Amino acid sequence: MKDARDLFLAANPLRPPGAGTAVAVAGGLGPYENTRAALRSIDLSQVRGRRVLLKPNVGRVAAPDSGVVTNPQVVAAAIDAFREAGAEVAVGESPIVGVNMPEAFEAAGLTAIAARRGCRLIDMDRRRFTEVALPDGRAIHHVRVCQDVFDFDLVVSIPVMKMHMHTGVTLAIKNMKGCLWRRSKVELHMLPPIKDDTAKPIDVAIADMSSVLRPHLALVDGTVGMEGLGPGAGRARPLGVVLAGTDAYAADAVACRLMGVDARQIPHLRFGAERGYGVIELPRIEVAPGDWLRWAAPFAAPPENLTIEFPNITVLDRNSCSACQSTLLLFLQKHREKLFDYFSSDGPIHIAIGKGHADLPAGTLCLGNCTINQRGKGIFVPGCPPVGSQILRVVAEG
Ligand code: SF4
Repeated sequence: MKDARDLFLAANPLRPPGAGTAVAVAGGLGPYENTRAALRSIDLSQVRGRRVLLKPNVGRVAAPDSGVVTNPQVVAAAIDAFREAGAEVAVGESPIVGVNMPEAFEAAGLTAIAARRGCRLIDMDRRRFTEVALPDGRAIHHVRVCQDVFDFDLVVSIPVMKMHMHTGVTLAIKNMKGCLWRRSKVELHMLPPIKDDTAKPIDVAIADMSSVLRPHLALVDGTVGMEGLGPGAGRARPLGVVLAGTDAYAADAVACRLMGVDARQIPHLRFGAERGYGVIELPRIEVAPGDWLRWAAPFAAPPENLTIEFPNITVLDRNSCSACQSTLLLFLQKHREKLFDYFSSDGPIHIAIGKGHADLPAGTLCLGNCTINQRGKGIFVPGCPPVGSQILRVVAEG
């Protein structure tokens, strides 16, 4: 089994020595042919005899055109291209907590694609993890990485182009979070504030993770992306493009531009680029074809302020950010009724988010690290933002 630094930080065989930073964009041909066209920009001759792990975004149970999961034809084209180049290929994912991996593969159309090709689909949560140290980490100093990852020589990150209510966007860099083992993914959302740093810990933690877990190739699927309340509750946004690049930061930056986002405004990309993990300044990236911006189609951002109104719930919001608002909104949409099982029926349930609260009613549900000073008032759920599934668990534990 490989060591994490040997796997991720050794010279990238897909990137010839001295090569500049390049990203290929392909559109108008359908997902399979777009992927093949984008991959023609990469010299795959070096993969002969190597084992390649394709890591799509299939962390949720969703249909191919929902904008939630990677298009199966993009994965199919990647399997075919790497195999034709002489590689041994498998597809692996570790889903979000509570999702059954075979069910997610099936819903995304990958079970059929893989069966037709005799390609292995790996539920990466079945085996144990390998603890990987992050010597340059600021918010986190180690991660638990699914052991399967280390059976391969190359990792290809194949995300869907999505806005993300907590991290701005989720693309090839953040998609590597799906290599983290089981619940350890959640821990990145539960971090305490970083001393002398106002950055959100989750953003710093993703940059920390990518200090080691950087894919050898980013294949960004913009067949149908997601705008608004991504990664799971936004609107599907057809774009009809696929991007390929051996610098995942550069591929993400180009994808951002197509989505109408400046990558320098996405904290985890900016932090990683500032540390030298990749390039996000567009003038430093050679993008082909020259008229690639013809595919640009701005995605709606996650809303700045959400109206959160539910009967018998009083939300006390002081200077919160959209990440806590959207987490709370989605939590209440899904679990509001269950919440009443744990609170007395006299009067509304008070829920606080954001910073600077004073005089909260006794018994208030305080959500997110910003409310930590008020935790004595009721039930405190840590996280920045807190994780929806954790809220009910903490409430149930009293
Ligand atoms: S409001 Fe929530 S997500 Fe925003 S900084 Fe505070 S705890 Fe983090």
